[in-house]
Amino acid sequence: MAPVVYRFVRDLRIDDHAGLAAAAAHGEIVPLLVIDRALEARLSRSPRRAAFFCRAAAALDASLRRRGSALIVRRSPAGAAIRHLARATGASGAAWSASYDRTGMLADGRLQAELEEARLRATVVHDAPALPPEETSAARPSEGYGYRAFVPYLDVWQKLRVASFEAPLLLPFARVAVQSEALPSPEQFGARDFETEATPEAAWGALSAFLGGSGLHYAVTANVPADDRTSHLSAHLSFGTIAARTVVREVRDRCEDPFLLVEERHSLRLFLRSLAMRDFFLQLAWHHPLSEDEALQEKMRSFPFVKKHPALEAWRTGRTGYTLVDAGIRQLHATGWMHPRVRAIAASFLCFDLGVDWRVGRAEWDRYTIEDDPALAGGNWQWIAGVGADMAAYPRIYNPYKQARRFDPSGAYARTWIEELAHQPGAFGVSRRPDAQIELPLFGREGYPQPVIDHDRAAREFLTRYRRFGGVARPAGARPASR
Ligand SMILES: Cc1cc2nc3c(=O)[nH]c(=O)nc-3n(C[C@H](O)[C@H](O)[C@H](O)COP(=O)(O)OP(=O)(O)OC[C@H]3O[C@@H](n4cnc5c(N)ncnc54)[C@H](O)[C@@H]3O)c2cc1C
Repeated sequence: MAPVVYRFVRDLRIDDHAGLAAAAAHGEIVPLLVIDRALEARLSRSPRRAAFFCRAAAALDASLRRRGSALIVRRSPAGAAIRHLARATGASGAAWSASYDRTGMLADGRLQAELEEARLRATVVHDAPALPPEETSAARPSEGYGYRAFVPYLDVWQKLRVASFEAPLLLPFARVAVQSEALPSPEQFGARDFETEATPEAAWGALSAFLGGSGLHYAVTANVPADDRTSHLSAHLSFGTIAARTVVREVRDRCEDPFLLVEERHSLRLFLRSLAMRDFFLQLAWHHPLSEDEALQEKMRSFPFVKKHPALEAWRTGRTGYTLVDAGIRQLHATGWMHPRVRAIAASFLCFDLGVDWRVGRAEWDRYTIEDDPALAGGNWQWIAGVGADMAAYPRIYNPYKQARRFDPSGAYARTWIEELAHQPGAFGVSRRPDAQIELPLFGREGYPQPVIDHDRAAREFLTRYRRFGGVARPAGARPASR
């Protein structure tokens, strides 16, 4: 049987791998890593992303070598790389895992056409989500072209079985005598080699530790940014050093443990909900590729978000004077990751307090996140901005004071990431409002800015603009739509 080229993309492992399983059905696998212009651009944008990718690629090469094969690296357009390699090895075709962002999907389509024209079989496989979009769609055909609302999606997602492609020892990798170019290094992308754990072993380690500990208290710990006890699996899932399928199956199995306390099972189910959210946004992007740069909600496409604001630079640099927002942004700059709870608050601040376009925020964070998920970033930014899949009846305006009091009541998170506050005692959930639960003096915050904007006023002004535009906001007299 002729071999098959397998092109690794964001699936840098060999375990539980839908793409490798599909390729192996046709013949021995010739493993290929293409560094084309598009990937180079994505990696050059975020130095920590580049470092993670390079480590993961090196780990993948090492594990292929243990199986008598090796990663063949090419720095050229994917079509040319695959055609040359197929000629050199006699391969009958190529397989790879699907992209979910619009740019990637268009590139997948072009590559497929190019290979078929060259009489090579092109197989594109769903590997990134735990459940492929077609499977969830088929389960409830009445939803039509994918799901636009999360609740019915979750209902279906929870009931479907997640496939398994375990048994990497049975995968037939080809021993080909083809020269490879050098493995990618962070320097190639203008980055340095940040210390990063980007291997499947590290991903498994993180998952096991999480399921044996903080995962059992996720309902509480996911709301405490200072404790930093969410799973930290997002970069691993993004680059595929662990399969989402594996994670979902492990968590579902853990839920079956009869000795779990009710709260522990509840926590694990909430964690599964987070994983379902990931699949939800992937299927949304898959079925609505236009929504990457355009609001999913047609009526919101012309909403007058601004591109510039006098306080935009303060938001970018974590100097808004709102501690939770600033701490989150500084955590992102320092680590390439921001706590999930804080992401929502910092994003809401940009879209509603400053009225700035969600695409500006998405592009800004893309320069720092390790995760490389245009589809997930876009879906979440649209969700927060109230222009995407979330069908909330009014904009999700978070009150940064209330949020700080609720999620960082001791100020520990702010102190960790905001250098100017590192030695300030007490909490920072300060408000001048009479209904404030905690009143603390603002003095002594040397070097730390005063709030760049009055939140209450900004929220009111935004809602006025929103109502004028024709959005459904809460009726006048109801509690303000600021959480
Ligand atoms: C404005 C904004 C932008 C975001 N951009 C990204 C992004 O580019 N890439 C990304 O993976 N996540 C993104 N998220 C979702 C979420 O914040 C991160 O997945 C989470 O911070 C990762 O930390 P964790 O792995 O410890 O999460 P956990 O709480 O441990 O969750 C486990 C996994 O579930 C998935 N997940 C959880 N929440 C979401 C969600 N809302 N959407 C999609 N998947 C989710 C992730 O894969 C995550 O690793 C964004 C959220 C917001 C509000």
